[in-house]
Amino acid sequence: MADQFPEFDVLIAGGGNAALCAALNAADSGCSVIVVESAPEWCRGGNSRHTRNLRHMSAAYPEDEFFADLHRVTGGRTHEHLARMTIRASANCLPWMLSHGVRFQKSLAGTLHLDRTNAFFLGGGKALMNSYYQAAARRKIRVLYDAEVVDLEIETGRFRSARVRMDGRDLEIRAKALVAAAGGFESNLEWLEEIWGPPARNFLIRGTPYNKGRVLKLLLERGAVPEGDPAQCHAVAIDARAPKFDGGIVSRLDSVPLGIVVNRHGERFYDEGEDLWPKRYAIWGRLLAEQPEQIGFSIIDSKALGCFMPSVFPAVRGDSIGELAAKLELPVDAVCSTVDRFNAAVAPGEFNHGVLDGCRTHGLPPEKTHWARRIDQPPFLGYPLRPGITFTYLGVKTGPGAAVAMQGGDVPSNIFAAGEIMAGNILGKGYLAGFGMTIGTVFGRIAGREAARAARQ
Ligand SMILES: Cc1cc2nc3c(=O)[nH]c(=O)nc-3n(C[C@H](O)[C@H](O)[C@H](O)COP(=O)(O)OP(=O)(O)OC[C@H]3O[C@@H](n4cnc5c(N)ncnc54)[C@H](O)[C@@H]3O)c2cc1C
Repeated sequence: MADQFPEFDVLIAGGGNAALCAALNAADSGCSVIVVESAPEWCRGGNSRHTRNLRHMSAAYPEDEFFADLHRVTGGRTHEHLARMTIRASANCLPWMLSHGVRFQKSLAGTLHLDRTNAFFLGGGKALMNSYYQAAARRKIRVLYDAEVVDLEIETGRFRSARVRMDGRDLEIRAKALVAAAGGFESNLEWLEEIWGPPARNFLIRGTPYNKGRVLKLLLERGAVPEGDPAQCHAVAIDARAPKFDGGIVSRLDSVPLGIVVNRHGERFYDEGEDLWPKRYAIWGRLLAEQPEQIGFSIIDSKALGCFMPSVFPAVRGDSIGELAAKLELPVDAVCSTVDRFNAAVAPGEFNHGVLDGCRTHGLPPEKTHWARRIDQPPFLGYPLRPGITFTYLGVKTGPGAAVAMQGGDVPSNIFAAGEIMAGNILGKGYLAGFGMTIGTVFGRIAGREAARAARQ
């Protein structure tokens, strides 16, 4: 039998950026608010605590350019009305964030290309989340940690209460409105395996282990209309030595375009120099997922040092390619012959890793079409790579007021969604750096305001 808890105006499921933006706005509208966060206090804040920046519209980055960027990365899989509304609303995110304690800093080395379009959080996402939790405490918002929403009572499309598991006991918490801000399902390994099959067991999850998609699944089971491709996730190449969960940004590795990538058999499998790295690095997660044992190895020589952001783990080093291959536990003869064939195919050219320089190979399957330089200057360096999942795309359908669309439902909803759990409405495919936090901030604020309105009715 579930324990009883007092009724709140607004219950927020989740404890990341979208959740806290919703909680603060609902409290600022005069509501009693409870935040239910499944993580313990020390790792509260979901994937949002791993972030560094937010993309926002400004005089230097107008709406049409922002929308064109979004249209390009999604291949048109976006709802233009919602997308443009989000973009316009992003113009006033910074003052609101400042007024809730967030501070900004200049972009750091390696991210200067985002200087015009993105605002960087001083102290990163962790400091941002701490500021929001402090602002929540000042507003007397109740926060439950180590508290997982395990069931939702929804009758004829209206939310009544949530069952929350804490300390092995179930509490029933009633509220007049619900904001679902519990992220995607990227840390639910069984769910990933249903989609990707056994290779999913070798994926690393870049963010929190708490985004298991339980709230998403409950909403879909209770009649919420799905949005976003269930079979897609955003995956990048990360250092294979990263932990299973929560490795964060420091396990990212940018050395791929500067050398070659071989698989477990010591063979190349894709053009490492296809396009500028920020545009292409997302496809490497999928490419690695298709390789034997879902692993690859980035191999460079000392000429590449200083041209890329290293991962937090030191490179494996060898004075010869053979020594490096042995240390990486790869078949030595196969790697030496792959490097020899690559070096022989490199055509003369003017190397410039800042542009598509046309330095390429000729007659090599697969060709390397840019930044191809002979790998011949010791020490030789290698990094093991695995697919690192950032987020999933399946979510619930919402309109501009953040209300969750329910199957056949024409009752005004008291269920709202914000952040990753509904991002598929706008970001149907691909990724635009900093846009996850834009969606969470814009829709979190809307969801908080609308949930407060629903609670008052
Ligand atoms: C390494 C990394 C770096 C990133 N960098 C950036 C960046 O710089 N800029 C950017 O815009 N985006 C970035 N992203 C994407 C960004 O993290 C997400 O878009 C954003 O954090 C989503 O916010 P959210 O509030 O929806 O989800 P989250 O912040 O993930 O929050 C979800 C919350 O729900 C809780 N939860 C889950 N299930 C339950 C349940 N059943 N009951 C209760 N609580 C539950 C979780 O504990 C968590 O607190 C990055 C992602 C990663 C992994």
